[in-house]
Amino acid sequence: MNAARPVHWPMSQFPVVDDCLQVGGLSLLQLAARVGQTPFYAYDRRLIDERVAWLRRILPPAIKLHYAIKANPMPALVQHLARQVDGLDVASLAEMQVALDAGMNPANISFAGPGKRPPELIAAIAAGITLHLESARELETVAQLGQKLGRQSRVAVRVNPDFELKTSGMKMGGGSKPFGVDAEQVPTLLQRIGELGLDFQGFHLFTGSQNLRAEALIEAHDRIFELALRLADAAPGRVWLLNIGGGFGIPYFPGDQPLDVRPVAANLDRWLPIVAARLPEAEIVLELGRYLVGEAGIYVVEVMDRKVSRGHTFLIANGGLHHHLAASGNFGQVIRKNYPVVVGNRVFGTEREVVTVVGPLCTPLDVLADRMELAKTDIGDLIVVFQSGAYGLTASPTAFLSHPPCREVLV
Ligand SMILES: *Cc1c(COP(=O)(O)O)cnc(C)c1O
Repeated sequence: MNAARPVHWPMSQFPVVDDCLQVGGLSLLQLAARVGQTPFYAYDRRLIDERVAWLRRILPPAIKLHYAIKANPMPALVQHLARQVDGLDVASLAEMQVALDAGMNPANISFAGPGKRPPELIAAIAAGITLHLESARELETVAQLGQKLGRQSRVAVRVNPDFELKTSGMKMGGGSKPFGVDAEQVPTLLQRIGELGLDFQGFHLFTGSQNLRAEALIEAHDRIFELALRLADAAPGRVWLLNIGGGFGIPYFPGDQPLDVRPVAANLDRWLPIVAARLPEAEIVLELGRYLVGEAGIYVVEVMDRKVSRGHTFLIANGGLHHHLAASGNFGQVIRKNYPVVVGNRVFGTEREVVTVVGPLCTPLDVLADRMELAKTDIGDLIVVFQSGAYGLTASPTAFLSHPPCREVLV
């Protein structure tokens, strides 16, 4: 008996018919035939649409919703989301091209990230997107390049807050950080933006990622609004934009529970009139990555071999770490934990066994599921890793060991 053992939150977003997972209206077996190969990633439009619609219902209508492309830059997916969100956030020139190709209004595209190179800055200024400045040096470069191009640069200041939150999953702000400009240096930077005559938009404050606790996000938002209102006193013009970051998490590991967005929305509702009284033109932007797409995606591999080594059963799959680093436990996790995994064509499977699912790479790091209870498999069965719509393929070392590439489909 081990009643307290944490379990995975049930993955009920994909229907199951005749013990087979259904994705985009097809059984997983049909989908695999349609894709033409394993391994592959599949992203479900319906689930993405439902997530955006649900957020829109819960959040105050004045809150603008942006998608942070780095979570999943697949062009078809970005194009699909571009029609539903208010803006796109990019972190490289290639992501900017995807955002522009998707038809998003350049005024609603923002570009953050340290160490932006001159060609990236030039492209952003020419396109008329908003550059989130990460340093005083970057500001000077932007001003020079804008002058050469004969075009006024739209800029916002990414702020490294002067507070650190105890609770955030992955910290991106507070203390010493390579991201943004330290809050105490921001007034000087704002004055310089005024002197250079740039088109000042506002502020960007991003404190961290993968938060599952509403109280943590509420605390972050309280501190962010307080700081933004303080900094706004030194603004060189009107404040049009207040990007308060994102950080909404999704349940990956045993014991994780979904974030309750409602109290977060209620707290935003409380702040809106306070911000509007001080900064009546300011749009408040939430930038979300994984929360919009993470739960809509699966990674699918095929069982190539089964072997029993001194009593322990291994399933050898044709994909692994090189396509899905995060599920292998090597993308920032301290202790390896299993993503939710099932045998997609035998979801409930009456015969069960405890197995370790490994990929084909010659390294002990290539593990997709460690000692999990799954349905008993045959060669050719399909193993599904849930919660794989964000930080999957493009967050993985695809060239490592030179195995064949993965496919991605939007269904
Ligand atoms: C990565 C990133 C995001 C998205 O993070 P998620 O955890 O996927 O929501 C948002 N904003 C900035 C500035 C980022 O760097």
